[in-house]
Amino acid sequence: MFKLACGDVMPGCAARFENSDRGAMLGQVAAHAASAHGITEITPEVLAAVESQISFAA
Ligand SMILES: [Zn+2]
Repeated sequence: MFKLACGDVMPGCAARFENSDRGAMLGQVAAHAASAHGITEITPEVLAAVESQISFAA
């Protein structure tokens, strides 16, 4: 499973994501970022910050 704690990218956020499909998880994160954080544009910088916090556990 790919896992991401939003709080590692956006301090104070308790949202957590996990999905066996990395791309699908990024989609969930993008939807959450838009609705919870007002981030409607995933810039390369934002994507890099998110991807650096993704962990993988089988
Ligand atoms: Zn969040």
